[in-house]
Amino acid sequence: MATSRGATLLGPDKLELREYPIPDIPADGGLLKVEMGGVCGTDVKYLHGKLKVDYPIILGHEILGRIEKLGKNAAAIHHVKEGDRVILKGALGCGRCDDCRRNNQRFCRQRTNYGGRTKCDTPPHLFGGFADYLYLAPDVLCTKVSESLSAEAAALVGSVMANGFQWAIRRGGVKMGDYVLIQGPGQQGLSCTFASKHAGAAKIFVSGIGRDMPRLELAKKFGATRIINVEQEDVVEVVRKETNGQLCDVVIDVSGNPNAILKSVDCLHRQSTMVLGGLTGDTTVTPMLMDKLVWNEIKLQGCFTADNDATDAALRIIEETKFPVEQMVSHVFPLKDIEHCIRSIGGEVPGTFPTKALINPAIG
Ligand SMILES: [Zn+2]
Ligand SMILES: [Zn+2]
Repeated sequence: MATSRGATLLGPDKLELREYPIPDIPADGGLLKVEMGGVCGTDVKYLHGKLKVDYPIILGHEILGRIEKLGKNAAAIHHVKEGDRVILKGALGCGRCDDCRRNNQRFCRQRTNYGGRTKCDTPPHLFGGFADYLYLAPDVLCTKVSESLSAEAAALVGSVMANGFQWAIRRGGVKMGDYVLIQGPGQQGLSCTFASKHAGAAKIFVSGIGRDMPRLELAKKFGATRIINVEQEDVVEVVRKETNGQLCDVVIDVSGNPNAILKSVDCLHRQSTMVLGGLTGDTTVTPMLMDKLVWNEIKLQGCFTADNDATDAALRIIEETKFPVEQMVSHVFPLKDIEHCIRSIGGEVPGTFPTKALINPAIG
């Protein structure tokens, strides 16, 4: 264990597996052996240079690992010990920037940001989850997870599942008895479905296109009461019929598709909420009859990742219900295939279209 591989992004479309020395661990730092790294659409955007970052960075921001080593003060900082299994989600903010002063540490630019903003060119280098090891920075938040969860399930908790809770419940306000439409049956759509079900939604509609059929079938297991293939049915008509014209209390768009977003407005009743979690792209304009939002007092709510404590809510529900969230994991790739994996998530590899892919560095 003298070195660790790290999937290093040197610039747009320049991804290399590089070797880094295992860093010296200071009193307040630690070392994590990566068990599983989740790959998501954001990684596709990083790979292609669609997000502004200072290179080089090691990719991988959805992280499950085991504590390999702790500096002498680190156990007290993180409330963990060597050998513990943890997910890493979020980090403390600097406490002084405008976002931190508004209690929005999530947006703080100065905190450690694995697989994104924190550069890897100087020691301790290991600031990304697509690696054998990762440096445990003092400001990072560790959440201990039980050994009873499969690695595939545990890897989803701090990222995908926490987002579902945040977007559907905290931002969308889904509550008992609601009618909910989720547009897009990918990983985020499935986790929003799961969260809505546990919030007590009466009916949950999940829509997708023809090639999404396996995902739509999976959505039923996560709590969908009615799936809609928009290539065969009109989503507005289905929602109108199934709700006896009452329409939805909350629509969550995770498709990032302008046409789906337009339809979403027509599926909402007065004073309801439209949650936008999907990205349409830097240059895509979504033309919308804004008066519909005005007349009907519809609330438009954007969503970007999740609050630090959303992980706890997701973890508790999953541990209590033992619901097999890992059903959404369709692919596990070795670290050496990281670029292939990211490209397949981006739909660039014919015949491979993962619902959710993970990287397991132990298998190669
Ligand atoms: Zn992600
Ligand atoms: Zn800050």
